[in-house]
Amino acid sequence: MDLMEKLTILTNSAKYDAACTSSGADRPGKTVMAGCCHSFAADGRCISLLKVLMTNFCIYDCSYCVNRVSSDCQRTAFTPSELAELTIQFYRRNYIEGLFLSSGIIRNPDYTMEQMIMVLELLRRRHNFWGYIHAKVIPGASPELVRRIGLLADRLSVNIELPSERSLKLLAPNKEKLAIITPMKQISIEGSQSKQELVVYKKAPQFAPAGQATQMIIGASPETDYQILNLASAMYKKYSLKRVFYSAYIPTGAHNSLPSPDTKPPLLREHRLYQADWLLRQYGFGAEELLSPETPNFNPYLDPKCNWAINNMHLFPVDVNRAPLEELLRVPGIGPASGRRIIIARKNGRLRMAELKRMRVVLKRAQYFITAADWIAGAGANKEAAVRALIDPKVYSAGIEQLLLFEDTPGYGKLPSAQDAASVSEAVEEAVVCLAQTL
Ligand code: SF4
Repeated sequence: MDLMEKLTILTNSAKYDAACTSSGADRPGKTVMAGCCHSFAADGRCISLLKVLMTNFCIYDCSYCVNRVSSDCQRTAFTPSELAELTIQFYRRNYIEGLFLSSGIIRNPDYTMEQMIMVLELLRRRHNFWGYIHAKVIPGASPELVRRIGLLADRLSVNIELPSERSLKLLAPNKEKLAIITPMKQISIEGSQSKQELVVYKKAPQFAPAGQATQMIIGASPETDYQILNLASAMYKKYSLKRVFYSAYIPTGAHNSLPSPDTKPPLLREHRLYQADWLLRQYGFGAEELLSPETPNFNPYLDPKCNWAINNMHLFPVDVNRAPLEELLRVPGIGPASGRRIIIARKNGRLRMAELKRMRVVLKRAQYFITAADWIAGAGANKEAAVRALIDPKVYSAGIEQLLLFEDTPGYGKLPSAQDAASVSEAVEEAVVCLAQTL
C-alpha cells in the first residue's frame, strides 16, 4: 500500500477523536503552539495539526469504535520513520503546524507506546521538529513510557471514553478504569513537578507543558448530563486537566447496548455540555448548581446559564454598581470580560444601561436580571418577553433526533420534525409558556 493510501485511511480513522485542542503550549524560543484538525493556541490563534493514527489495527473490541478488532474495515499501519518523514515534509511546506498522534493497540499497550515514542523521537531529535505535538497515552502503558512520551509531547491525553465504569465494562470490555486513571494521575503529578523544577532550573526538561486532556463519548451509554458533568468536574480538580472533550456518539455498528444505528449524533446535547463545561472553568459554577438528581439533563431550549438563572430568580436582580464579580458572572448576558469592565468602570461613577451596552453586556438578556443607575427590572415584569430573550436560537435549527434525547424533560413535551418549521416554532412557543410559568 502506498503512503498516500495509508494516510487517507489513518487520518480518516482518527477523525472520531475530539480531544485535540492545544491551548497552553509554550516552548520558549521554539516554534510553539501549533495545532489537519484545527486547534486553538493559548493566545486564541487557530492552528492546524496533522491528526492521524499510527495504525488502525487494534486488538481491543470497544463496541462504539470504528477501529475495533471485530470491525470490517481496511487496515494499515505507518512505520515510525514513514510517519515522522510525512509530518516533517508537511510541516516544511507549511501545511501543518503540528501533529496529533493516536493509535489503535497493536500487540499490547507498551509496544504501541514504543512505536509512538519512536515517531516523536525521530521528529524531535533527527528532524529537529519543534512544532506542537499532542500524543495519546495508551491506557495500561508502563509509567516509564508515559514519562518518555511526556518529555517529547506538548500535550498528552488519556481518553476516559465513557462516563461510568459500568458502561466501560459493557462497551469497552478490554479497558479498565484503573488503567485509564493511573496515567492521568502520573501526568498530573509529573506535570506539576516539571513546572516547579523549571522555576529553579530554567533548562530543566519540560513534561507535557500544555497539560493533559481527555475525551468522553456522549450518547453511547445511558448516563445523564448530571453524571457526566460531575465526572468532568472531579477530573478537572483531581488531575488538573486542561480540557474535557465531549464527543457525540456516531453509530459505527450494531450492539444491543448501543443506540440503534440510525440514531443521529446528539449534537445539541454535546453543545450544552460544552457550554456547561465553560461555566465550570470560567464562571465559577459547580456541577451541582447546574443540574441535580431531580433534573439530571440540560434543557434543550436554554443554555445552562440561562437555565440556572430561571431556576434561581430569587437571586436577581443583581445591582451592577455594587455586586462582586462572582455575582455579575451569574447574570445572563454578562461574561468574564464585560464583568471585569464593569468592576473597573464603576469606580468612576454609577453605571447606566448605555454604558453597559458599550461594555458589550448583552442587554437583550441581562435587562431582566439587573439594576443599574437608570434601570430597575425583574423578569417578573414581562415573563414571556424574558423567556423569549433567553431561548437559544440554535434550538430552531436543531433536528428532532438531537432533541429527542430530552423528550423526557418534564414540561417540555416531544418535539416535532425539524423539517416542519411551523411545528418547531409551535413547540418553542409551548416552551416559552411553560418556562414563563417557572419564573
Ligand atoms: S482501544 Fe478501543 S477505542 Fe481505541 S482504537 Fe482500539 S477499539 Fe478503538
